[in-house]
Amino acid sequence: MHLADYVWLDGATPTQELRYKTRIFDFESGTPSLDHFSEWSFDGSSTNQATGDNSDCILQPVFFCKNPLHKQNRWVVLCEVLNSDGTPHQSNQRALLRKSMKDFGAKHEPYVGFEQEYTLFYKDSPLGWPENGYPAPQGPFYCGVGASVVSGRDLVEEHTACCIEAGLNIYGTNAEVMLGQWEFQIGPRGVSDEKCDPLTMSDHSWIARFFLHAISEKHGVKVSFSNKPMFGDWNGAGMHTNFSTKEMRTQEKGLAAINEAVKHLENNHRKHIEGYGYGLSDRLTGLHETCSINDFKSGVSDRGASIRIPLSTSKKGFGYLEDRRPGANSDPYVVSNLLVSSICAGS
Ligand code: ADP
Ligand code: MN
Ligand code: MN
Ligand code: MN
Repeated sequence: MHLADYVWLDGATPTQELRYKTRIFDFESGTPSLDHFSEWSFDGSSTNQATGDNSDCILQPVFFCKNPLHKQNRWVVLCEVLNSDGTPHQSNQRALLRKSMKDFGAKHEPYVGFEQEYTLFYKDSPLGWPENGYPAPQGPFYCGVGASVVSGRDLVEEHTACCIEAGLNIYGTNAEVMLGQWEFQIGPRGVSDEKCDPLTMSDHSWIARFFLHAISEKHGVKVSFSNKPMFGDWNGAGMHTNFSTKEMRTQEKGLAAINEAVKHLENNHRKHIEGYGYGLSDRLTGLHETCSINDFKSGVSDRGASIRIPLSTSKKGFGYLEDRRPGANSDPYVVSNLLVSSICAGS
């Protein structure tokens, strides 16, 4: 018997959340393919996606991978949510990205890489914080090692191993600036034949979030993707999004294409801010390695800019740009769609 965890995004506002339910299949043998996982339905009236009198929504499997958190024959089946007539549900942001990729994907071959920051909580405090009080000021925690500056490593390592075993494009991890805050990256790793398109990377990113929540259940620790989990002199949490097109990655166009993309991003600043997650103004203050939400700035190696050109890209003359604005709770599908639409549609 095989177990399949059907994962989808609900209709919660302002931030969609993950849901899943499990189905048992009796496949002949070996590794199944996507079409082994049939459509399924769920009660949309319990997820903000339908009314009680017309409650069935459809789960359409679109991507699957191993679920290494269980011993064997267990799969994560990521689904798009469809209406009963087969059209994409209005909460289905993936369908919009699919459309943009159909329009621009072949010509521009975009790659995307996400740096997902998150905060672990035990009860009401970030993990490692004293129960009634504060840790030492920020400084020693970023990429720290040792019990006095790091908290939650076991969980993080378990997550990394799980993503690798599931075949996700996990690029790396690090402890973040605030104690209890961590980051993992999903994106291009320079491995040939790896798919790095926005649709695939966004799928991987949602499944990596799913694994993190699932692992946290075992530890009795909560995962928060809040943009500003702690007010005061503490860093917020973001989802820096790295982006390149075929031209940006070539020596001939390289930086010229990147600079042109930055112009398109500047012209569409407000539109991007609206899609970059709830409570973003609490994080994009101009402090704590951010640019104010009201300004647009770009710069080489500048961590106070909206768009940073990595030093390596500037030195080589080609590569990618980093959009530092998306919040930790933003939706990779929405962020990718904005980038593809603004950059590829404009050039
Ligand atoms: P930072 O220095 O901002 O902390 P990280 O090392 O955390 O950067 O993350 C770098 C990210 O850039 C990774 O997600 C990686 O996959 C992504 N990346 C690398 N090359 C490209 C590229 N050509 N196009 C898009 N993203 C890329
Ligand atoms: Mn990073
Ligand atoms: Mn970071
Ligand atoms: Mn970054």
